[in-house]
Amino acid sequence: MLNTVASNIAHIEREIAQSCRQSGRSDDRVMLLAVTKTVNVERILEAVAAGQRRFGENYVQEAVEKIQTLRELHPELLRGSGEQVPLEWHLIGPLQNNKTRIVAEYFDWVQSLDALKTAQRLSAQRPADLPDLQICIQVNVDGAATKSGVAPQDVPDLALAIQALPRLRLRGLMSIPNPQDSLLQTLALHARVHDLLHKLNQHPAFAALPLDTLSMGMSGDMHEAIAAGSTMVRIGTAIFGAR
Ligand SMILES: *Cc1c(COP(=O)(O)O)cnc(C)c1O
Repeated sequence: MLNTVASNIAHIEREIAQSCRQSGRSDDRVMLLAVTKTVNVERILEAVAAGQRRFGENYVQEAVEKIQTLRELHPELLRGSGEQVPLEWHLIGPLQNNKTRIVAEYFDWVQSLDALKTAQRLSAQRPADLPDLQICIQVNVDGAATKSGVAPQDVPDLALAIQALPRLRLRGLMSIPNPQDSLLQTLALHARVHDLLHKLNQHPAFAALPLDTLSMGMSGDMHEAIAAGSTMVRIGTAIFGAR
């Protein structure tokens, strides 16, 4: 029998709890972001029925169409409408500057921020009646030439510049390392991002409101990411099957 979305989510939640225990993080909470690129609205609603509220999307146009459909079908899942915890949308794919306005209007988080110009546009375009847009800087931790993301040494300056912008709230770092030859190498890359966040939090600019988010780990490296301190794992395949 095929696994259902609900049983897959329950399974992942158990694995997250187990990874936390094995890493001595018994009190920590690691949030589950369900990655729904190429996943249709019907299957997203299966995840919603199972209690999932945080969703990650890679492609702006695809995401906005699904968000609009969900709002029409289920207005009760909107922010500020009743008892339900509202759905939360995270952009985890590349963001071009000609898409910033629609992203500022539809998303709750942008995890893939890698340029100050993009941050300035999001700041100016975030509608005044919405809460601050939550931001993670994407770090290119393994130095892969083809990938987006900021080089680790450039992260502090960008973080300080974003921190000064209105309507954005910097929350932390996101990384998507390429698969490594060994689990130890994977662990070491995740640990570098963890250390980078730790160093940022030493800066007085973040003393009052420390950066609290490390978005690391996907279906294949969730355990190593949690061992290195991840606070949000981004899981697609293990919930919805192969794309
Ligand atoms: C697709 C994607 C994921 C989910 O990957 P799975 O291996 O399917 O769990 C996570 N993060 C990003 C940035 C992605 O593009």
